[in-house]
Amino acid sequence: MPACVVCRETITQPLCPGCLERQVATWLQERDYGEALQQLRDVTEEIHVPEGATWCIKCNTHMNVCSYCYLEHVKAWLLRRSPELEYEFSQLFGFFAPVAPVAAPVLEVVHHGT
Ligand SMILES: [Zn+2]
Ligand SMILES: [Zn+2]
Repeated sequence: MPACVVCRETITQPLCPGCLERQVATWLQERDYGEALQQLRDVTEEIHVPEGATWCIKCNTHMNVCSYCYLEHVKAWLLRRSPELEYEFSQLFGFFAPVAPVAAPVLEVVHHGT
């Protein structure tokens, strides 16, 4: 089974960092943090290597880092840059944690309450 190169867990719900990044970017723009998007892209490139034996269920890009590890990576950056956003980030994207129910809504969550 394909496993995440960071945490070695099996990738059960493959959604690539590129697709997750778009969701995070949408949220940042809605919160008026548009100037953070370039940094977000750099942070994504640090961890996203588009290769491996897993394909994203949304865009078919190869991937080898699980959603959880990618979002933890983004959260670490967010804590350094804009710690006031960390709580909301965890509320919106925290369900990617390995213990979260598999049936959690994966997409479109950032569009709530605009
Ligand atoms: Zn992982
Ligand atoms: Zn994707």
